[in-house]
Amino acid sequence: MIEKILPGIFRIELPLPDFALQTVNSYLLKGDERDLLIDSGIDEKECRAALLKALRELDVDLERTDFFITHFHEDHFGLAPSIASNRSTIYLTFPEAVYWEDLGRWKAGLVHGLKNGFPEEELKKFINNTPDFLKKFPLDEIKEAVKFYEGRTPSRKTRFQIIGDGEILNVGKYSLRCLMTPGHSCGHICLYEPNEKLLFSGDHILETITPAIFLWSGDDQNPLADYLRSLDRVFNLEIETILPGHRRAFRNHRDRILEIKKHHCRREGEIASVLDVNGKSAYEIASKVSWNIPLPWDKFTVELRWMALAETLAHLKYMEQRGKVKSISQGSKNKNLYCSSC
Ligand SMILES: [Zn+2]
Repeated sequence: MIEKILPGIFRIELPLPDFALQTVNSYLLKGDERDLLIDSGIDEKECRAALLKALRELDVDLERTDFFITHFHEDHFGLAPSIASNRSTIYLTFPEAVYWEDLGRWKAGLVHGLKNGFPEEELKKFINNTPDFLKKFPLDEIKEAVKFYEGRTPSRKTRFQIIGDGEILNVGKYSLRCLMTPGHSCGHICLYEPNEKLLFSGDHILETITPAIFLWSGDDQNPLADYLRSLDRVFNLEIETILPGHRRAFRNHRDRILEIKKHHCRREGEIASVLDVNGKSAYEIASKVSWNIPLPWDKFTVELRWMALAETLAHLKYMEQRGKVKSISQGSKNKNLYCSSC
């Protein structure tokens, strides 16, 4: 489905088979010399066919098209490496590149899950179900982009190029300013067009879905704190229209930001009410939170439980930083427990 937003700006809605989200948006901006595609959909047959069909209808030449990736979640970047031509540039941010160039972090995340109470049997199931996207990940190209960015000499040509806060991409009459908005992912980035007051928001702000904030491993990250700061950044901008990564365009971004903040406050209250002085694992806490999923906890798939754990951990980290919860290690396997901070 193609929707014209403004002259030269199109929303392409792509199917996400097997995802609760159902669809994801790609945005095409037509330029004089080159076009820009913001996010590319997932690397699956149905989505690929829909994107290629839309690009044909919009008379797009992939040799003259560059790609901007708001974040490296598979529904947003999946197709970019395989449909970009050798002349295309694929823009991504440094934190995102560094995070994904080391798939060892994925393993560290699994260990962290175990430490926080995720049952070993479920973890095995989860690993078996892991999608193929990690196997197809363009690791080598991303590593070269990081080398180039750090001033080292890349050993081969890469289409990936690191882009950061404040940089401008000009496409046709539109001037797009990069706005780093970490939180939903560590290197999430939006594009702001000040003349038309547009924000291509990726998954930073969505209208009817609360973007999930995950903590995947035990390192120094505090993604919820980052996310709330990133919301404040966008709150202050003059925006007429938000062009989100999922669903339709919407207005009144400040109202939506306040709602999202309220949601996180409520969830924090709920987590605080589950805590006691003896300590509980994050997994046990997650099982007692009321998620926006119409199923009881024992009917959650292993993937849903894994995400619920990561969201709970993001909250616990944010609470711990503000002295609202204490974490303690227990037992020979160094299990983490969280207790109210009395
Ligand atoms: Zn998404």
